[in-house]
Amino acid sequence: MEKVYDLHIHYTFELSLQDTVEIFQEEFTATGTEKYCFLSLPHHVVDGKAELDKTQNVKGLYLKSKFQPNAYAFAGLVHPDEHCDQERIAEAFLAQVEEYLSVGYDGVKMLEGYPSLLKAWKLPLDSPIYDKFYRFMEENGYPILMHIANPQENWDVEQASLQAIEAGRVYDASYPSKAEITAQVFRVMERFPKLKLILAHFGFMSYDIQEAARFMSYPNTLFDVTPGGEQLIRMQKEWVEWQPFWEKHQERILYGTDFYAFPKDENWETAFHRRPKMLRQFFETETEHVYLDESFMGVGLSHSLRNKIYRENFTKLLGEPKPIDEGYLLREAERVLKADDLQYVQQTLHK
Ligand SMILES: [Zn+2]
Repeated sequence: MEKVYDLHIHYTFELSLQDTVEIFQEEFTATGTEKYCFLSLPHHVVDGKAELDKTQNVKGLYLKSKFQPNAYAFAGLVHPDEHCDQERIAEAFLAQVEEYLSVGYDGVKMLEGYPSLLKAWKLPLDSPIYDKFYRFMEENGYPILMHIANPQENWDVEQASLQAIEAGRVYDASYPSKAEITAQVFRVMERFPKLKLILAHFGFMSYDIQEAARFMSYPNTLFDVTPGGEQLIRMQKEWVEWQPFWEKHQERILYGTDFYAFPKDENWETAFHRRPKMLRQFFETETEHVYLDESFMGVGLSHSLRNKIYRENFTKLLGEPKPIDEGYLLREAERVLKADDLQYVQQTLHK
């Protein structure tokens, strides 16, 4: 099996840290995943309100330490409940990322472009509240992996998939539109054109190759191929058009899967194999397969393209993992982790 380096890994299931580590170990081995980037998701929306999981950042750093030297971690910005005092919050965001990037995180994950968070916070991605943060990331060449919008059909209840409807991911006029969210990103890029900005799920831009080309017109922008919506299947249907795009931007497209440590129930193997399997079928074969309820043809990328997308671009983007400040990691663990997770961290940190 060809080895892959996965840029897009989460750890949000309710599992102990020890179970998370052990399950990841098995899943990585079974899928040929050799390097990993753990992405923190400190906020999610419940009943229209953004909630904070204050353990996410430190868990990511711990997972990185546990899987070193093959692992990386991206931190997430911790938002206050209200965004009234914008000046003060802008300073606080800057202070946060200065800290994260000095204690061993390798970049920042932003879920802030997710429709439900945009609605809950009423905070567009190009709000000046983020300017000091973006400038710091741009000046230092640190990467941001950003989720923007969602599949276009989620804005139309007639067209949305059953999964999207069931998960409440269908958006009426009280949410910003997909076009507005994308426009926010372009306004950020106009102000910070050298930003190393990676859009997850191909930025949900498979609907519009011109838009994707515009995003690639900045020098340091990138896409990850993480399944969602399903962008790759849509592209395959117009592969004559998209193939030259992949050729042209082959240095700036990265492998990612939305991998998780899944709970070990009867669906475990299906759950963790689903997305890696789909990507390998898509990239490595030219035959027909089924993903969820959609059939698709593989595009059979050349070995040289696969080497870049599977591994080389990851290494070029992230280099060596930043060294971890273990004192910081322990202090944060003591501050936010539950007793059993904290005990596990204390017992295993130097092993
Ligand atoms: Zn994700």
